[in-house]
Formats: sequence, structure tokens, C-alpha cells
Amino acid sequence: MIVVMKEGASREQVDNVVQLLKNKGLGVHLSQGEEKTIVGIIGPKERVRELPMEAMPGVEKVVAVSNPFKLASRAFHPQDTLVQVGDQIIGGADPVIIAGPCSVESREQILETAERVKAAGATLLRGGAFKPRSSPYSFQGLGEKGLQYLAEAREKTGLPIVTEIMEIEALDMMLQYVDVFQIGARNMQNYPLLKAVGRTQTPVLLKRGLSATMEEWLMAAEYILAEGNPNVILCERGIRTFETYTRNTLDLNAVPVVQYLSHLPVIVDPSHGVGHWRYVTPMARAAIAAGANGLIVEVHPNPKEALSDGEQSLTLENFEQMVREVKLISQALNPVGDPLYAAKP
Ligand code: PEP
Ligand code: MN
Repeated sequence: MIVVMKEGASREQVDNVVQLLKNKGLGVHLSQGEEKTIVGIIGPKERVRELPMEAMPGVEKVVAVSNPFKLASRAFHPQDTLVQVGDQIIGGADPVIIAGPCSVESREQILETAERVKAAGATLLRGGAFKPRSSPYSFQGLGEKGLQYLAEAREKTGLPIVTEIMEIEALDMMLQYVDVFQIGARNMQNYPLLKAVGRTQTPVLLKRGLSATMEEWLMAAEYILAEGNPNVILCERGIRTFETYTRNTLDLNAVPVVQYLSHLPVIVDPSHGVGHWRYVTPMARAAIAAGANGLIVEVHPNPKEALSDGEQSLTLENFEQMVREVKLISQALNPVGDPLYAAKP
């Protein structure tokens, strides 16, 4: 259930509503829009119905949210969520471009990649230090050393860093280094991990699970939001289908559907979506044309020698070309300074 406050409802009127709900043992989350405040209620509908909510001063209406996800829904938060990372805003018309290797492999590799992707137009740096590999015998990442190299790359380039967290035990240590926590596809339904990152305020890039429906994915986001962290970025990275010529099937349907259902930013990972570098740029272009709020792309100075996901990594030159192309598409959709043409989901 949500309580929509009247336009111009006073602070005191909102506080009274919140207090009444809390006294009844209900969970309360506030969404403060420019015009209206919406109070999200977590708890049994019956208990809310017993309360004289609609009679309270400042209340416009009480609405049942039909989706199982509440805080992630547009009903609770009608305007797009903008997630701030350093001086970057994720969720606006200007698409964010996150680039870097699948794994941090060495100091030289991450420093070189960071300098080059920044020069090409990337605004955040990715790189895994803890890798969820299908085989226990494959390279598992450099661990904390990898995070230190990422932090050095951030210092040199100013690019904030996005890196995967795989277990709760690493959270406090990782907080010293990380600007955005990535929750990988394999951990999308690791609820204790979702709750743990939800108790921080660090932005979370939540990848869609290998076989997750959009609803399951949004419910995973709900776990993070319900703990009090509003900074969730959704990432479509391809789902399992019967097709074998590509690693996954990039479900670009998810971009407009999830943007309609939810206020959270949606970015696309064409690298894992297709699994082969040759198809990455066309699908990056398609993602931006579909209205994605950004891309996360694997880039390696020498993909043939990469310790993970080399076959889907772009060379630095191919990445530069990809950025040029997606910028053209994004500018065509959102001519700068012309709000009349701003693409809307
Ligand atoms: C990755 O980003 O390198 C990764 C392992 O992604 P996913 O969780 O989407 O497979
Ligand atoms: Mn990878």
C-alpha cells in the first residue's frame, strides 16, 4: 500500500502519517517527489485498512500497489531515480558508459585500460577482483590486491570503480575501495548478500540472474531498497535460452518494460549478453536506441591473453569506435538542450 500526500502537504502532516503507521508496527519508506510525498507501507494490507488514513490531514489517497515489488515500483516513486556516483548521474538522458576488463589481472593492465577507456569516453571503470567462475580451476581474481590496483587507477583517472562482491564477509573490507558494488547474475537471488549491501548507501549494480524473470529481478532490487539503500542500478546481461550461437540472449525487451514498471535506472551489458566481441557493438547500439540508461562493457588491451572472458572483450580501438557510435545514437534521441525531444520510456 502507498499513501499519496496532497501537493503541498506539510512536514508535520507527513510526520503524523508516518507516526501512526509506525505505531501500528508497519514499515515506512518515504519517496519525496518535487510536488508530492508518497509514503510506502510495508506490512499486511488488513492492518493498514483498519487505520483512518484517508481522513488524515494532508492525505490525498491510499492506493494498493498490485505488483509484488513496492519500493521498486513507479507507483511508489513516479519520477526516475538518479543514482549519483562521484560526479556522474546514472539514470538521466545521458547514458553512462562503464568499461574495463572482466578481471583485474595486473597493475599495468588495469592502469593502461583505465587511461585508455577514459580517453575514449568511459565515465566509470569496471574490473573484477573476486570472480564467480564456472570452474574452480579457472582464474579466481586477485582479491584485495586487485581492489588496490583499481583504487590506484581511480586516483590516476578520476574514474569511479565498479566491482563485484561475492560474499558478505568481504563487505567491510570492500567498502574502503568500492564506488559501486556489482551483484553478479549468479548472486541475484543471494538474499543475505542483497540485504547486506542494502544496509550500506553505496550504489549497487544488480545484474539480472541467468534465468530470472523481470519480476524476480525487481524483487531482488526490492530486497536492497527495503533495507534502506535507494541507490540501485539494474543491469540486463542476457538470459539463458535454447540458442547456442551466442553465450546468452540479450533481452532488450527488459529495457522499456522495466523502465515502465520501475523508476530505477536500467543499463545493459552486451558483453555477457552475446559472449563474442563481434556482436558487442551492434547490441550496445541497440541498447542505447532502446533507451537504456547506460552500458557496461568488457574491454581488454590484449583480449587474446585475457585471463577471463577474452572472447567477448573489445580491444581499446573497438571500444573507441563503439563509444563514437553509441554517442551518435544517444544524441539523436536526446538533442542537448532540447527537452522537447528527450526520449521517454
Ligand atoms: C562479470 O561482469 O564479469 C560477470 C561475471 O557478470 P555476470 O554476473 O553477468 O555473469
Ligand atoms: Mn566477465
